[in-house]
Amino acid sequence: MRDGLLLRAVKRVTRWRFQADLTMHRALRRARGDRPYLLGGECRRCARCCEAPAIQAGRAVWYLPTLRRAFLWWHRRVNGFELMNRDPQARVFVFRCTHFDHATRTCDSYDSRPGMCRDYPRNLLAQPNPEMLPGCGYRPVAPNSAAFLRALQSASVSGDTLARLKRDLHLEK
Ligand code: SF4
Ligand code: SF4
Repeated sequence: MRDGLLLRAVKRVTRWRFQADLTMHRALRRARGDRPYLLGGECRRCARCCEAPAIQAGRAVWYLPTLRRAFLWWHRRVNGFELMNRDPQARVFVFRCTHFDHATRTCDSYDSRPGMCRDYPRNLLAQPNPEMLPGCGYRPVAPNSAAFLRALQSASVSGDTLARLKRDLHLEK
């Protein structure tokens, strides 16, 4: 069901907080010398990322029942995320989004969608080997891809080998 005025206001404030946390977290990682993948490609509007939104929980939320209940209540009540599954090894909750219309593949509250929906798939870029959803138009690009490509060209790597290395090492922009 489409978000009403109150929910839109609550979600806007939550989004500011989410964005501020994210900006600080990523700035700290950059200051530590982390060089995550860059984001290449573009969104194809396939809506695969709306089919089963997933959130990795911190240890406290995962193991403490009161915190876990509050976390799940919040996502159900505010974001419209219904818990469908859990992956205990990765501490990931998998949801069904009640805003997603599977027939039209659209979001009924796109303007007030949560920060995590706006950020996807940037959240994957800090992983050692990011994997986008099948069919996603985005792709990870290695931060040193230009230097790598120059090195491969000067080593006269070409044809299938070059294509495979470009794919496996995420060198395609
Ligand atoms: S809130 Fe909208 S954008 Fe986010 S998962 Fe649900 S349908 Fe997709
Ligand atoms: S899965 Fe990728 S291409 Fe498809 S809507 Fe989501 S971000 Fe866009």
